[in-house]
Amino acid sequence: MRMLPAVMKLSTRITGLTGGGSDGWDVFYKARQMIADGIKVTELTIGEHDIRTDPAILDAMAQSARGGHTGYAMVPGIGALRDKVAERISAQSGVPTTRDNILITPGGQAALFAAHHAVCDEGDTALFIDPYYATYPGTLRAVGARPQAVHTDPINGFQPRATDIAPYAAAATSLLINSPNNPTGAVYTPETMQDIAQVSVAHDLWLISDEVYDTQVWRGRHISPRSLPSMSERTLVVGSMSKSHAMTGSRCGWVCGPADVINHLITLATHTTYGVPGFIQDATLFALDAGPELEERIAEPFRRRRAMTLEALANQNVVKSVPPDGAMYIMLDIRATGLSGEEFANALLDTHQIAVMPGESFGQAAAGHIRVALTIDDAAFVRALDTLIGFAHSLA
Ligand code: PMP
Repeated sequence: MRMLPAVMKLSTRITGLTGGGSDGWDVFYKARQMIADGIKVTELTIGEHDIRTDPAILDAMAQSARGGHTGYAMVPGIGALRDKVAERISAQSGVPTTRDNILITPGGQAALFAAHHAVCDEGDTALFIDPYYATYPGTLRAVGARPQAVHTDPINGFQPRATDIAPYAAAATSLLINSPNNPTGAVYTPETMQDIAQVSVAHDLWLISDEVYDTQVWRGRHISPRSLPSMSERTLVVGSMSKSHAMTGSRCGWVCGPADVINHLITLATHTTYGVPGFIQDATLFALDAGPELEERIAEPFRRRRAMTLEALANQNVVKSVPPDGAMYIMLDIRATGLSGEEFANALLDTHQIAVMPGESFGQAAAGHIRVALTIDDAAFVRALDTLIGFAHSLA
């Protein structure tokens, strides 16, 4: 007699990762399916550059791998790379930083997970700012924390105020912020950072500062909250090579924080990722050694396309935006069309084969908006934008 396979029970932590709802990627997957079916789609969804990783970085990677750096690498990261990341952070923020403050991780995503794993116990409340990068709530649930959104308002340029955070802070363990911000492009002002620091100290919160877009600032200045008084002992900074060096697929990032936290995170890495491939780390070191000129060259197309977008939006008021001060996206307010962000994104994909992300994928504070990635060549980008604006006008 054949036995039926038992239905094995999965953990509630894994089955509940997306919180029961949609994970916000439906339009993205629909666009990917259309492309797989041979339909030409203009892709303005995810934060992937239209250039590939610089050939010189790939040469460094190949040279390292051919030279034998294909075995297990040092779990915390190779010493020279930890030193280089520490040096870059010291120079940017003015906070003395050494390799003991740095763990190299497989990308910023793993760094976000590790940082929250270090500070949140099961059931702890972990705050994050809405609109937010779509994976945040799932990452917080993955460590057993209870995600709590803190809403921001387009009227304030999506900058969180102390009064927005304070009502949730007493019951919380941590606060996750992201400046320059995905999806809004907000670069937090000195006043905003001061508010955040003040609330964090007053309520004894850990601050997780996601700074993966630190090289993409169009207006204002990037401030790392770790540099504010009393903040270095309670701040974990998340960094990545993905956006700054067009190395999304290389999966290399870091956590920067107090040495005792990093020691615990090294133990976590030993029992989970077991580090980052040596040839990827050598290529990262080479890329960072190339200095800010390379970073500026990689950021430049987004600065240009941001300006093109603002020009295309001028002299009409159906599609509005809070001009982004940083990062590689623009959030467009399409509420004048009467559609939700999700309805608009679906209709735009069906009618004009242009794929954008619905604002709702990034939280309730982004409802009625869409996020456009500035990630295709200039001419195609302007054409897509004109079509998008024309479509919105036809609906309004
Ligand atoms: N944080 C933010 C705000 C992001 O937008 C992303 C990627 N889109 C990440 C973290 C993770 O990036 P990675 O894992 O490629 O470093």
